Amino acid sequence: MKQVVLASRPAGAAGLEHFRLEEVAIPTPADGEVLVRITHMSLDPYMRGRMDDAKSYATPVAVGATMEAGAVGEVIASNAPGFAPGDTAFGMLGWATHGCLPATHLRKLDPSIPATTALGVMGMPGFTGWYGLTEIGKPKAGETLVVAAATGPVGSMVGQLAKLRGLRVVGIAGGADKCKQAVETFGFDACVDHRAYDTARDLRKAIAAEAPDGVDIYFENVGGKVLEATLPLMNTFGRIPLCGMIAWYEGAETSATDQLPRVWRNVLVNRLCINGFIISDHFDRFPDFLKEVAPHVADGSITYLEDVAEGLENAPETFLRMLKGGNKGKQIVKIS
Ligand code: NDP
Repeated sequence: MKQVVLASRPAGAAGLEHFRLEEVAIPTPADGEVLVRITHMSLDPYMRGRMDDAKSYATPVAVGATMEAGAVGEVIASNAPGFAPGDTAFGMLGWATHGCLPATHLRKLDPSIPATTALGVMGMPGFTGWYGLTEIGKPKAGETLVVAAATGPVGSMVGQLAKLRGLRVVGIAGGADKCKQAVETFGFDACVDHRAYDTARDLRKAIAAEAPDGVDIYFENVGGKVLEATLPLMNTFGRIPLCGMIAWYEGAETSATDQLPRVWRNVLVNRLCINGFIISDHFDRFPDFLKEVAPHVADGSITYLEDVAEGLENAPETFLRMLKGGNKGKQIVKIS
């Protein structure tokens, strides 16, 4: 079998030299374990954090260890009740062609639903959007929501759910094509191209024009210029589910002036509620998410886009491209 390991830790931006493709023996499942041939693996922004050894909510991937990933595939050997060869399963199987896990760490998937949806719209990213919006955003009909990375699996879930709940939804995305997709595919009311504006001030004007009543919920996916542009547009008692800050995952482009006093004053004066969350703390709510969202996915009232790259050997390049916005929808790698 093949696997991609972390070859070394990046200091700053990650590059291809930080990954290594290895060939190792296929494991034999021990008692209680299941062996899966991976068909599709997920690439997610959080994996960049696992490459660093800074203190975080999760243990970093060790140098020389397999990169972490959620993946789906076919059970080819089982030493555990409940799983049989031919079953389709999801688990944290890693950047690899095969994975062996205790059955308790695997979820059997309904074969009538495309397995890749367990990596995106009906998996961790979709759940993240649902949890952050409903539990922290507390959306109310008539309010205005802004979300960046609007066509990705988190942002598109947030925007579509908010539309279903009667909000005005303004997306922010990189490039005209993605903005068109946010409006035409995902039904956003408007979408602003953050790459079209050099300064936060100009971007702010563009967002303000699409949010004439101000912003009640800023679903924070990216940080950087988008955060700087949006924060001053928040209405009193606004909510900010702090989900991600991908603009700063490779190290911060810090502004020359210290903006902290201005930011803090904005939070105070507007009585904002900012709540960081890590979705792995909330998996007890996963059944509630599926109960609400699965029928919408089935009837098409929530839709999704998948960007499927080919071949495990192309995973590092595809991952680095995604961090810079090169993906069009949920980034998946098909394992040949
Ligand atoms: P996406 O598939 O949307 O991919 C990331 C996107 O981020 C890119 O496509 C790009 O979109 C955007 N982006 C990259 N750099 C910048 C930048 N400098 N400024 C603005 N946008 C940028 O990712 P996901 O939907 O999987 O994740 C979205 C966010 O949610 C991430 O920050 C991720 O870490 C976070 N997350 C947090 C979780 C939690 O538990 N808190 C769980 C899951 C995800 P574009 O080209 O449109 O700008």
